Amino acid sequence: MFERRATRQITVGKVPVGGGAPITVQSMTTTKTADVEGTLQQIYALAAAGCDIVRCTCNEQEAAEGLAQIVPRSPIPIIADIHHQYRMALAAMEAGVHGLRLNPGNIRKPEHIKAVASEARDRNIPIRIGVNGGSLDPSLYEKHNGLTAAAMVESAMQEIAYFREVDFDLIKISVKASNVPLMVEAYRMLADTTDIPLHLGVTEAGPPPAGLVKATAGIGALLLEGIGDTIRYSLTADPVEEAKAGRQLLEALGLRERKNVDLIACPSCGRAEIDVIDVANRAMRAFEDKKLPLQIAVMGCVVNGPGEAREADLGIAAGNKRGHLFVKGRNVAVVPESEMVEALVEWAEFINEHGTDAAIARADTSRAEREAAKDRNQLLDEKGADANHAAEKIVEIRKTVND
Ligand code: SF4
Repeated sequence: MFERRATRQITVGKVPVGGGAPITVQSMTTTKTADVEGTLQQIYALAAAGCDIVRCTCNEQEAAEGLAQIVPRSPIPIIADIHHQYRMALAAMEAGVHGLRLNPGNIRKPEHIKAVASEARDRNIPIRIGVNGGSLDPSLYEKHNGLTAAAMVESAMQEIAYFREVDFDLIKISVKASNVPLMVEAYRMLADTTDIPLHLGVTEAGPPPAGLVKATAGIGALLLEGIGDTIRYSLTADPVEEAKAGRQLLEALGLRERKNVDLIACPSCGRAEIDVIDVANRAMRAFEDKKLPLQIAVMGCVVNGPGEAREADLGIAAGNKRGHLFVKGRNVAVVPESEMVEALVEWAEFINEHGTDAAIARADTSRAEREAAKDRNQLLDEKGADANHAAEKIVEIRKTVND
């Protein structure tokens, strides 16, 4: 659909990043890394939600000791996040981590940076240069008259220069900012400067839904330009929400094969025969843990629903206290309104196993179509073709304006 920028490839554990590899989703644990069982529990939950690589803080010796126990039991590669102490980077590598994240704004002494890079080179461990708008080196802040895209890119390039001095090039870079246009500009600039793989993120995006919107705007815009090799949603929320959001974004852009239900639903309107929000939410919960790569529609009325969602693998539309099930736009069954969600689950599981053609073949489509037509016509008789009373509203508007 869109061409991805050519980048070099590195591997984090067994997971390739860059060089045409599938875009990966990252997240970060929120537990104390010294709490081995608690951290592993979160890592397993993250992996189940679609996280490919996970970062754990390594801020103290106990954390490094925890990592030594976590790494061998983790289902996905572990990256240690290093703050101000370069010795923690050395300890994390000793613990066996698959990657490091260094913030150039936090570890500034060239000899410390080079000591870490030399050790990483010898152990074949990649490092992410994680520039963060909020913790930019003050000298760059001053030089560029504040936080700018050029300042963030320069910070990354300075770090790369230190790495090159010790012949280390297993690198990926991020230039995150909480300001979306700034972050987009910095990544674009970086993409024009280097072919090193890029880790995308809007830092400190905040709690959902605003945080989700900000992160999706920044990460999505760049991915659509072909920029980005790995992504992280930095949300003020359970990290599982971050992993889900990352996976869902990649699925929505066609950059990751869908493994879960893509639930679509109409926004509801004056025609709705059910509480669409409630039914869609219940359906979402019912499908949450099911690995069914299908598009499933919940539509508020049988007048327009089956037509509007005819591309969905399966859908249900309400009418006259009944749910009309349709497969690829063909009516297949009618169920009581109270059983709509259960019916969707049963048909979805059948379709997943046997396909949509088999689902249509097992149905009495003539009867289902007759029943749907009956309810559709009755609703049209009751509410007319203008269920949202648009014509009446227009008359009112004209009256208001003319008065
Ligand atoms: S017309 Fe029917 S399907 Fe379309 S938004 Fe309204 S209730 Fe939903």
